[in-house]
Amino acid sequence: MSFMDSILARHGLTDIADKVFGAQRLTDAEALRLYDVKDLNVLGYLANHVRERKNGNIATYILNLYLNYSNVCILSCQFCAFARRPHEKEGQFTYDADELTRQAKLAYDQGITEIHMVGGLHPKLPFSYYTDLIKSFKTTCPNLKVKAFTAIEIRHLAERIAKKPIRETLELLREAGLNSLTGGGAEIFDPEVRDQICRGKESAGEWLEVHRTWHQMGERSTCTMLYGHVETTAHRVDHLRRLRELQDETHGFTALVPFAFEPEHNKLSHLGRVSAFEDLRNLAIARLYLDNFDHITAYWISLGLPLAQVALSYGVDDLHGTIHQEKIFHMAGSQTPQGQTVANLERAIREAGRIPIQRNTFYQRLNEPKPAGQTVPSGMTKTGVLV
Ligand code: SF4
Repeated sequence: MSFMDSILARHGLTDIADKVFGAQRLTDAEALRLYDVKDLNVLGYLANHVRERKNGNIATYILNLYLNYSNVCILSCQFCAFARRPHEKEGQFTYDADELTRQAKLAYDQGITEIHMVGGLHPKLPFSYYTDLIKSFKTTCPNLKVKAFTAIEIRHLAERIAKKPIRETLELLREAGLNSLTGGGAEIFDPEVRDQICRGKESAGEWLEVHRTWHQMGERSTCTMLYGHVETTAHRVDHLRRLRELQDETHGFTALVPFAFEPEHNKLSHLGRVSAFEDLRNLAIARLYLDNFDHITAYWISLGLPLAQVALSYGVDDLHGTIHQEKIFHMAGSQTPQGQTVANLERAIREAGRIPIQRNTFYQRLNEPKPAGQTVPSGMTKTGVLV
């Protein structure tokens, strides 16, 4: 028996390891057993096997810019520090298309390939605000991909603003230039958990229906999990199962992007933030359970780049992107930087023994592995904020 076999046996994981090495699907019960394992390195060993089977030694990142068009929102999710109610003037913002396009163009000229944009559920902005905004991005930055809106925003736009079916709303947004949906708003799917952390927000079924419709239109999206608040590990497995089931049906998810609840300036501040151990454990188990997902992304905005770097050995194969001006997590107390340079992302990947490659919105690799030391992508300025 090898050293690793004896460790797996000591943790009662021989049967699960056999399934992992045999590329067989894990059951919910097996995922729950993994959440009871206290030896993080055993989980990492198994998750890394799947990570390398699917993605070899490559770790990707994207040159992107985060934009938030408005934080005015008719909901008051208990975990949210970003939103302001329509009557709450202090701290409220709404940008017009000119300002958002100006910011997009600035970053586009420095090499970004994607705008990632979400906002609150604004009660008054007309549907044309959203379509005109996307068109403005596309006219000004022709090759830019627009990844925007959570499934919750899409339902809001469809039901309250455009007053059209979900499919027609998505088609109109796609006609305007929308390339991908974001994965936000999923939180934890269990209805009792939703009642405690985001009362009034759309249900799991409603969230999944938007992504199903988008995928049926031939499009792709990401999905998320907001963990580390009131949920149990069974709730997390239930969440992953629903994502895995939709992926079986549509194959439309590019990646899972899990992130932990940030506890400042919101109604759940008493809960605190989960540990680094929990972050890595959750990423590793997601990698092991989601056999039909190609990619697991470490959201360094939540983890911090040092832990995201470690996560590259715990099932993760993607470090998200440059981001540049994140607001949502930072308004909830995140202490990480608001953006990363390409050089920092590539250095983190190389130090972890992986090969950095820039990707696009759909997780397709944009170039070949570069020799160490050559960290500036072609087309990027050496003085720009992104490098
Ligand atoms: S999480 Fe989204 S929907 Fe909920 S209050 Fe914040 S902005 Fe509004």
